[in-house]
Amino acid sequence: MKVVIVGGVAGGATAAARIRRLDENAQIVVFERSGFVSYANCGLPYYIGGVITDPEELTLQTPERFWQRFRVDMRVRHEVTALHPQRKSVAVRDLETGRVFEERYDKLLLSPGARPTQPELPGVGLDRLFTLRTVEDTLRIRAFVEREKPRSAVLAGGGYIGLELAENLRGLGMDVTIVQRPQQLLNPLDYDMAAFDHAKMRQEGVKLMLGHSVAGFEADRNGVKVLLKGEAALKADLVILAIGVTPDTRIAKEAGLELGVKDSIVVNDRMETSEPDIYAVGDAVEVKHCVTGEQTLISLAGPANKQGRIAADNICGGHSVYGGSQGSSVIKVFDMTVATTGINERTAKKAGIDCDKIYLSPASHAAYYPGGRLMTMKVVFEKGSCRLLGAQIVGYEGVDKRIDVLASALYAGLNGVQLKELDLAYAPPYSSAKDPVNMAGFMIENIAQGNVKQFHWEEADALPRDGSAILLDARTPAEYARGHLEGFRNLPLDELREHLEELERDKPVYVVCQSGLRSYLACRILAQHGVDCCHLAGGYRLYEVIAKERCAAECAFPCGMEGNH
Ligand code: FAD
Repeated sequence: MKVVIVGGVAGGATAAARIRRLDENAQIVVFERSGFVSYANCGLPYYIGGVITDPEELTLQTPERFWQRFRVDMRVRHEVTALHPQRKSVAVRDLETGRVFEERYDKLLLSPGARPTQPELPGVGLDRLFTLRTVEDTLRIRAFVEREKPRSAVLAGGGYIGLELAENLRGLGMDVTIVQRPQQLLNPLDYDMAAFDHAKMRQEGVKLMLGHSVAGFEADRNGVKVLLKGEAALKADLVILAIGVTPDTRIAKEAGLELGVKDSIVVNDRMETSEPDIYAVGDAVEVKHCVTGEQTLISLAGPANKQGRIAADNICGGHSVYGGSQGSSVIKVFDMTVATTGINERTAKKAGIDCDKIYLSPASHAAYYPGGRLMTMKVVFEKGSCRLLGAQIVGYEGVDKRIDVLASALYAGLNGVQLKELDLAYAPPYSSAKDPVNMAGFMIENIAQGNVKQFHWEEADALPRDGSAILLDARTPAEYARGHLEGFRNLPLDELREHLEELERDKPVYVVCQSGLRSYLACRILAQHGVDCCHLAGGYRLYEVIAKERCAAECAFPCGMEGNH
């Protein structure tokens, strides 16, 4: 059996090695357009920033080592220019010599990945404008930085690559601005959770232009003018376009393979395309989203690697299936960690799912053991059934662990209440006897059982302030003095029982505290005294982060916080 693979990085290299492990006699040829195989895309921003110093660290394998160990014929600087499914061959151009030839296959695997999306804007192509995909792009940017010593950079796009670049360019001392069309960074997050990320970026000196669009670029003496829609241009010494990726599927399209979302390749769960004996994996294919069941694009290394292995199994006569992606991701944002799995609240609502959410801000490990830090966790679930839909966490230590537990729970089909049952490892330096994931389960159960009602940060400013409702802040006077919601009266939790008689029973009570814990306790006391009560999910801490972020973004104070902001 002769297998030809297009693309020798995440999906392609994984598949090549797996095919060899399954079939010692297969002839395996991989064509890779760039000069490197099996390189660490995910490490590229860190080489630009000088965190990874040796370029050899970026290339996990060489064609020689691949040949030695796996007898895989990896041909770098070879581009597949056309597919001929009828003849079962591909057309190849050797980019060093210009030679063009045809290569026959019995089975063909496409893992061509995705290209950085190139906007059709004036000035794209200027020599101070870069995109980042390959090792060559990385070396080019690094060489530019060393040669030209840019002092300012504009990053068009605030997704994962934009944020990683921002951190690395700040590390090199550059003045960095991110221009992003949506009102928030990192679209997999909801706005409320992105607000923590915005605050961190601003604190680290990254300028955020959210809700702004790039209109084009102009050369400007020793720099670039970044033209913005309807406002003054920005000047920068270096511009990197990171506005997203587009499946690199021209050859598949020209060969008539069935295409789906954004011209991605349609595959079945065995990673087979619409053409017999042609498989496809990775960023180039559309996948079923595990939560919504919809076809979508998820451009991440984990799915590409898993799909490569599955395609290899099937090429070798096995039967492996890909069940879909849930988009679990994690990113380092300076010293902070941001992680997600499943869908966010925005997507759930768009998909017509009647959802609810909880927020909690537990410590990463037992509070009495030194070094613990708060994380903020948001879990989105379906009302009624409590089906888990997704989770987002921002924080420091322990964020990656919790998101992986939640990702596993989501995959296993647990509902939100079952999170309380997970038997998770505990010792004070690592967690609490009730792990944050268990706590999320307790909270969802309390809502499901009607033990507590919540209101949310987006509703807080619209609560009646005309005396028809009672608004209480259950924190200490000192906390209250540092900042509080307009119209909320300070009544510390520990004094609540003494003041119960003052509360008019015919009025609803809304309670706020710092994180949502004391307000929950207050609601339990009040509910047992016949009071209709609900509390602010996520507490004043969440409300304040969002309000400050809006303030920073709009340069105008938007809402009803009083006190020392
Ligand atoms: P790729 O790994 O991109 O490989 C495709 C290869 O095919 C390319 O090298 C290309 O040159 C080659 N090719 C394309 N067309 C042809 C052709 N016609 N002929 C020959 N060769 C061709 N994901 C994460 O999960 N976590 C991260 O932290 C993360 N960080 C990233 C950072 C950066 C800077 C980048 C660019 C990506 C990052 N990703 C990350 C995404 C991840 O790298 C991709 O999802 C994954 O590599 C996709 O695998 P793939 O095999 O589909 O494509």
